[in-house]
Amino acid sequence: MSDCVFCKIVKWETPSQRVYEDDQYIAFLDINPINPGHTLVIPRDHYENVLDVPEEVLAGMIKIAKKVAPAVVGAMKADGFNIGINNGRASGQLVDHVHIHIIPRHENDNLKSWPSRSRYADGEMGATAKKIKDAIK
Ligand code: 5GP
Ligand code: ZN
Repeated sequence: MSDCVFCKIVKWETPSQRVYEDDQYIAFLDINPINPGHTLVIPRDHYENVLDVPEEVLAGMIKIAKKVAPAVVGAMKADGFNIGINNGRASGQLVDHVHIHIIPRHENDNLKSWPSRSRYADGEMGATAKKIKDAIK
């Protein structure tokens, strides 16, 4: 897609700090890192999100993330890492070219992985599970 910032990175129309690439995937540093070393894994081909990307391409992205994440952790002397994919504006997705975030984490980095949790009302948990189960295609 011509106006996609990650397609521009693929074509070197936008510079990037690449840490890994092969004929299908690129991993490069996020320009606004949550922690230094925050890395993004993308397929060279443009797909919007997890629902659009073919299963085998998604599987390949996970494979690259599994290869790159320990290097990010080692190089950043991190204690752990988060892996995440945002899907849709409501989730925080700003770039509509599917990407895996690899975010190195440090003890006491004062980041929360998730906001505080809520509780289900009586009976609501079972009803919610049923709604989802019935919606699976
Ligand atoms: P999203 O919010 O879509 O899950 O994540 C998009 C990520 O892409 C953001 O973390 C943002 O900092 C990063 N990003 C946006 N534009 C550029 C860019 O031009 N270069 C790089 N390296 N990262 C970018
Ligand atoms: Zn794209």
